[in-house]
Amino acid sequence: MRAVDLIRKKRDSGEHSREEIDFLVSRYTRGDIPDYQMAAWLMAVWIRGMSRSELTALTGAMLYSGEVLNLSDLPGKKVDKHSTGGIGDKTSLILAPIVAAGGLTVPMISGRGLGHTGGTLDKLEAIPGFNVNLSLEQFRAVLKECGMGLIGQTKEIAPADKKIYALRDATSTVENIGLICGSIMSKKLAEGIDALVLDVKVGSGAFMKREEQAVNLAEVMIDTGKRMGKKVVALITDMDQPLGRAAGHANEVAECIDVLNGGGPDDLRDLSLELSAWMFYLGERTKSVDEGRRLAGTMIASGQAREKFKQGIRLQGGDQRVVDEPQRLPQAHFHADVPSPATTNCEQFGIALAVLGGGREKKEDVIDHAVGLQFHKRIGDRVEQGEALATIYYNAATRLPEATDLLAKNFLIGQQAPTEKHPLIRRVIGV
Ligand code: URA
Repeated sequence: MRAVDLIRKKRDSGEHSREEIDFLVSRYTRGDIPDYQMAAWLMAVWIRGMSRSELTALTGAMLYSGEVLNLSDLPGKKVDKHSTGGIGDKTSLILAPIVAAGGLTVPMISGRGLGHTGGTLDKLEAIPGFNVNLSLEQFRAVLKECGMGLIGQTKEIAPADKKIYALRDATSTVENIGLICGSIMSKKLAEGIDALVLDVKVGSGAFMKREEQAVNLAEVMIDTGKRMGKKVVALITDMDQPLGRAAGHANEVAECIDVLNGGGPDDLRDLSLELSAWMFYLGERTKSVDEGRRLAGTMIASGQAREKFKQGIRLQGGDQRVVDEPQRLPQAHFHADVPSPATTNCEQFGIALAVLGGGREKKEDVIDHAVGLQFHKRIGDRVEQGEALATIYYNAATRLPEATDLLAKNFLIGQQAPTEKHPLIRRVIGV
């Protein structure tokens, strides 16, 4: 078998066998297929799509590219959440400590920024010293001690996703149901979890722009998880505007700390509590989602989630003082307001962040954790002329004009508030 023939086959709309997909994934992971051939194949898949059996084969090949964790020696149920990605989407940093404080184990394997969306690993690395590259042994030890651990794909777990994910990010081959399902489910199934809550984003800032696409992606992932004996539900949630007020890295961590302190923006708090509630329910910690919601609220109100976050940061080498003193997080040198001229194209906000240095253009790029965006207006808010719509935190002045332009152009101001509703949670699937 040769990679070049498989690229041609997909380019010409052919359907791969399981052996062909195994060949591509295993050889690429080992370094025997170069980036340029894999990139060409990914683009062919992006354009031609994948059949259901190709998708199943891809998820399996990616899952078994590394080890599948067995955490049965740890007490209680293991549950996780994964989002398909959006702007300001930072719930993992809030719900992991809530759910761990509530008595379940959360072994979370996350990704870095992908396309215009932010990544949990990059956000965590805004905390000085935080190490997302734990060995399997260290990961187990952290989980045992505090019930939550947040790491990236490694050479041992989901190594195929580690490489393919970075390549997709740099080649504009992200928004494809098969590739997203393979990426997410290979990581999640490798974690040794009992249950998984999926947050499938829909809207202009998501990879799935239309609800039927999001539902389709959710169904494919639920089906993949259930076939592997996991309990899985998916919440289809709004991404027509950023979640919370902050986008960036350090400023998103600060906003998560606000929520763990009992404050923060309503939408971010509500979604974090809802996802936690489903995790408690699927993990059989509570008898209903309502009870899960109450338990999640108690974990915040009692300060237990906040303490758990500190413990988790400390165990992964981070400076836990950021929780009491968020000013210890990286700070940008400058800030500028975007004056006003309802949000239409949320994706462009993610691109503005990347322009500031908060995203990668090439796989090797180092991101600036201090830069970020703070949104002052939500869809439907009244805006006065000249009022600030958002504030940009930046370090390189040369990048400011392009980022300002992207933001200013993508707020749409009219005489009337939009009539279209943007419910935060549109549907729950898989119950
Ligand atoms: N999150 C992932 O882990 N992978 C994707 O492809 C998209 C979102």
